[in-house]
Amino acid sequence: MSDAAPYSVRDGIAVITLNNPPVNGLGAALRTGIKAGMDKAAADASVKAVVLIGSAKAFSGGADIREFNTPKSFEKPSLPEINEAQDNFPKPMVAAIGGFAMGGGLELALGCHYRVAAPKSQLALPEVKLGILPGSGGTQRLPRVVPMAEAVRMMTTGNPIPAEKGKEYGLVDEIVAGDLLEGAVAYAKTLVAEGKGPRRIRDMKAKLDGDLKAFFAAARAEVAKASKGYPAPLEIVACAEAAATKPFDEGRKFERERFAVLVETVESKALRHMFFAERQTSKIPDVPEDTPVRAIKTAAVIGAGTMGGGIAMSLVNAGIPVTMIEMKQEALDRGLATIKKNYASTVSKGRLKQEEMDKRVALITPSLSMDGVKDADIVIEAVFERMDVKQDIFRKLDALAKPGAILASNTSTLDVNAIADVTRRPQDVIGTHFFSPANVMRLLEVVRGAKTAKDVLATTMKLGKTIKKLPVVSGVCDGFIGNRMIEKYGQQSLFLLDEGCSPAQVDGAAQKWGMAMGPLTMGDMAGLDIGWEIRKRRAQERPNMVYSKIGDRICEQGRYGQKTGKGWYLYEAGNRKPIPDPAVDKIIEDYRKEIGVKPRQISDDEIVERLIYALVNEAAYILEEGIALRASDIDMVYLTGYGFPAYRGGPMFYASSVGLPKVVEAIKGFQKGYKGGEWKLAPLLDRLAKEGKSFTDYDAAKK
Ligand code: NAD
Repeated sequence: MSDAAPYSVRDGIAVITLNNPPVNGLGAALRTGIKAGMDKAAADASVKAVVLIGSAKAFSGGADIREFNTPKSFEKPSLPEINEAQDNFPKPMVAAIGGFAMGGGLELALGCHYRVAAPKSQLALPEVKLGILPGSGGTQRLPRVVPMAEAVRMMTTGNPIPAEKGKEYGLVDEIVAGDLLEGAVAYAKTLVAEGKGPRRIRDMKAKLDGDLKAFFAAARAEVAKASKGYPAPLEIVACAEAAATKPFDEGRKFERERFAVLVETVESKALRHMFFAERQTSKIPDVPEDTPVRAIKTAAVIGAGTMGGGIAMSLVNAGIPVTMIEMKQEALDRGLATIKKNYASTVSKGRLKQEEMDKRVALITPSLSMDGVKDADIVIEAVFERMDVKQDIFRKLDALAKPGAILASNTSTLDVNAIADVTRRPQDVIGTHFFSPANVMRLLEVVRGAKTAKDVLATTMKLGKTIKKLPVVSGVCDGFIGNRMIEKYGQQSLFLLDEGCSPAQVDGAAQKWGMAMGPLTMGDMAGLDIGWEIRKRRAQERPNMVYSKIGDRICEQGRYGQKTGKGWYLYEAGNRKPIPDPAVDKIIEDYRKEIGVKPRQISDDEIVERLIYALVNEAAYILEEGIALRASDIDMVYLTGYGFPAYRGGPMFYASSVGLPKVVEAIKGFQKGYKGGEWKLAPLLDRLAKEGKSFTDYDAAKK
């Protein structure tokens, strides 16, 4: 029998074991094996029933993602064909669910006539998270065993339910506390002894009483509100309604049609791109995934300010003890108080237990001495953004840290190589660029210095995952991937103000397009003085730098953003809602007069194109210079760190879906407009457009 699905018989019960580690993805070999096992069991008169079982970790995680977009995914039998064979199977089939049954894995279990599950197992139809729906009968079978409201909830959120809930709803017939296989075989024998035959879900009625119309109207309203314009959740409701109103085969046909529509939507394509892009980020061509890593059991964080505090929280949240070092007692006290306040707010919302908070806080050892770094396996520096200060710290770290300790800097703009080079161990130095608030934001740019050792990179990437971040590798350059791009985006936002837009118009257009917030609101949140400082530094480094001085004018008025109650907008005490401010309009008007610009009407489309294509063009440079390993990494940076809308898949995916020739044409148009000299078309973008290729093609060719 097939290795992918070993077959055995125990006391008249055939056992087909799914064996496709790590998650029993339903790849071609496994599907063939299951079907072969079923045929054998059907033909053997001594077999009275069948048990389908996976591993303790996973019954099945659904489609095998390794076979996505390959001919294997189309090989027969397909999952729907297996489901049909299950429906027509002459003997009772029992699914024995351990670990989890997800997506196609749960559809396989729903094709079985009975289901038993281990107590801790989880059941889900998460297809909605990829912008699609359960396409192998899931939308038709689930509401026939689970009450409709729960079935709709499971399918439209994609969230798993534990086996106990499954039992309560009717999805699971029995919870098996002991050995799952023993229990499943015993259950199958009981079925046989009691003369119970196949119990096909397709023959059941959907579990919904009362007024169907009213139920689905309410479900649609609720789901529409939560689905934020994504089409899949509402299509799922339509399929669930079909399950309640149409015969099974018609419902299946409807489900197939809606699936085919969803698969082609930009939203689903973007979500699927993101799913794969996320998995790519950990692949570093010259650092194999089995590179030995250094053990990280303890950490030290230098600086207990905005970032240091958040970084310390991320570490202790993962159980890693942290020594937090400051220069002055007040700063240390303030830092610790902020950490406690943040935790207390989570406790008050019921999302963290008080004991857990106490445990985490106890893992932080405050210290005023740099000696606190001596035992640390990793030291993360988060002090002021000044090269002299950072180099001074790294000299001290070189003298004090134990051999082999990783020395990391949280700098957002400074040259990691210049920091590494003041030490005698530049191979142990790396950048860990967290995003604010560091305990919340998922993105972590891991900055690989020229001399960073491979195992240091591998260890830092692993640590990033341990502390629940999404680590993305970046080379060394000013601003790394994300902030280098955002500079161009910010530059356009200010040029747009010069030319005639109001801050609310720029932000409104960006937000309507899908950005979590517009560039000026974002500036107010981050603090406008930070950018001002950077501009002052850059003005010295790059004497020919072209920029709008409108940002400086705002800062000169002491308007630093939310923290001063005013920036591009006004803020009421304790409120983050930006309120347009006539005083800002006046500053902008005066500036336009100063530079001799007559304001013009600018469309939302132009605003969005200029902002987003500025990102894309700079990203193409970043890609060609090898600062980012792949275009999809850049997408992940923007999706997880900059509030880029998931349904647009990130700037590179978006540009590719618009078509690179169109992007190039627009940029050429901007070159003729205001400050057009700032639009220097990236050679890579130009080349790909001419070759009729996309950034996805570029990534694929590099593999
Ligand atoms: P911050 O001013 O809030 O905190 C810096 C802390 O470092 C202060 O508490 C200060 O007392 C302490 N410090 C300074 N010199 C020290 C020394 N020699 N020893 C011990 N402590 C010292 O600044 P922040 O916003 O947390 O930024 C810290 C670093 O993180 C900077 O490099 C910054 O560029 C970077 N960063 C900031 C953000 C952000 O949004 N704030 C985002 C990413 C990265």
